[in-house]
Amino acid sequence: MPQILKLLSQLLESRRPIVTADDLATLPEDNRDVLLNQQILVPSRPATHVTCDACHDDHVEEVTPIKVGKRVAFRIPCPEAGWVGVPEERLRQWTVDVRRLVALLSAAVGSSQPPDELIRGFAWRVATIEIAGESYDVVFVRINGTTQPPFQDELGRKHPPARTIVISTRDLPDDTTGFAASLPLPSAFTFTGDHLLFQLARVRSVVSAQSNVAGNVFQLRGDFWQLSFDGTTKFLKDSVGMGYIARLLAEPDREIPAVALLAARAGIDPLVATGSSGEILDDEARENYGRRYHELKEDLEDAKEDLDLGRVEKLETEMEQLTDELAKATGLRGNPRQKFDADRVRKSVSMAVSRDIDKITDKHEALGHHLTATISSGLTFRYASDRKMDWLT
Ligand SMILES: [Zn+2]
Repeated sequence: MPQILKLLSQLLESRRPIVTADDLATLPEDNRDVLLNQQILVPSRPATHVTCDACHDDHVEEVTPIKVGKRVAFRIPCPEAGWVGVPEERLRQWTVDVRRLVALLSAAVGSSQPPDELIRGFAWRVATIEIAGESYDVVFVRINGTTQPPFQDELGRKHPPARTIVISTRDLPDDTTGFAASLPLPSAFTFTGDHLLFQLARVRSVVSAQSNVAGNVFQLRGDFWQLSFDGTTKFLKDSVGMGYIARLLAEPDREIPAVALLAARAGIDPLVATGSSGEILDDEARENYGRRYHELKEDLEDAKEDLDLGRVEKLETEMEQLTDELAKATGLRGNPRQKFDADRVRKSVSMAVSRDIDKITDKHEALGHHLTATISSGLTFRYASDRKMDWLT
């Protein structure tokens, strides 16, 4: 339901966001349920005007209450139909509970701290996250005509911009230079079922792409990996093992199970890294696979709508890979009673990693040797360097 967040962004652009019963009726039922059940929309003052639905002129009239016995009824005048009754239901209105939304965003990022209101009514720190060993504040900014002075100045004074990720109700391509990254709300979060999810992988990649940190880089840019090490930069075509290596570099000294690497490639990242042997996919991991699948499916629908063929192809490939991996990891394919084969995952991840280290060595010798010396493989994988290394991944 990506459109929910677009809708909320639009609503928040007005000073007093009002949703009428008629507006609400135009939303798909599941969207409506989410907004009401999560109490993002809360009841507001009833409408004083409604659009006539008795003729075809769509004229808007002021509602007149009339007493009918002990009850109050509502009606509007229509030039064609005379007095038209308006059910009280149609007068109901809702507004966006911004603080509730902010609290949900904060919970979705996994923050243990309550949100911190930085600019009254307009900017909140929803969480602090770590990317490549650096911590960043995730700040939700509500942009509208009355956001004065420009929030960038005020926010910049309170917060080091280079450590701030701005999530805003509007796309701000040029207004946020100096900040670590800037994403519109519908890119940084998504709704799956009634869960609000933080798009960590996407935010990470935007932070990396938008910040100009010099040093070691192991990062996918479009179809190529940028490999910067020891003052030399090379580019290498994407392949499976590259993603595994990037994941290892992102968390030096950590033992990462082969199965977690496999899951990370599908974009599920830190949630799956449970247990040390990674022998089975737990329920949470399986659920994450499912969520990721639905996300991809929604993105795919969007891409198809936008006629973005390149993206369609990419998403379809990713969906296929995800399905394959899930099937392999849970033993769904072939004999369903056959146990998940940890050894098979270990072998496939090992092979992919060593194959790609070879490829890297051909192109970028210093980096290849460094990775050969520092990456250990087995049921778990680990990147451990004697020198302290910071990687932008
Ligand atoms: Zn009318």
